[in-house]
Amino acid sequence: MKRIAIFYCKKIKDHTCIACTYCFKGVKEKAGEFAQHGEEIEIAAMTDCGDCPGLLVPRANMVAGHVARVIGEVDAIHLGTCIKMAYEHGNCPMDLDEVKLKLEKKLEKPVIIGTHPY
Ligand code: SF4
Ligand code: SF4
Repeated sequence: MKRIAIFYCKKIKDHTCIACTYCFKGVKEKAGEFAQHGEEIEIAAMTDCGDCPGLLVPRANMVAGHVARVIGEVDAIHLGTCIKMAYEHGNCPMDLDEVKLKLEKKLEKPVIIGTHPY
């Protein structure tokens, strides 16, 4: 079983993605970036990016530590398709490639950009 944490764009969730149903569907169907986990997926945490202007690195570090204490270490971090869309089309102030590198170094876990494909 792969235990994951998902981060969403605080500005997009519940506007274009109502109640994160797309990601729950994606996990169930192992679609999009979830396909790379070859086994059952457990969503241990789903929370926001920390809002603009881009507080994802300290926030993800804090969330990963909290999840580890309460549930157990996560195997991977996903940055939602919403964050990817915000970065590519919506003036998100974060540099996602840099965020990914920093988080992978800090947490020593894979950070996957994207989630569902719908
Ligand atoms: S892409 Fe996923 S995490 Fe982001 S708002 Fe949509 S359903 Fe939620
Ligand atoms: S635009 Fe970027 S920094 Fe702002 S809320 Fe969305 S993902 Fe977070």
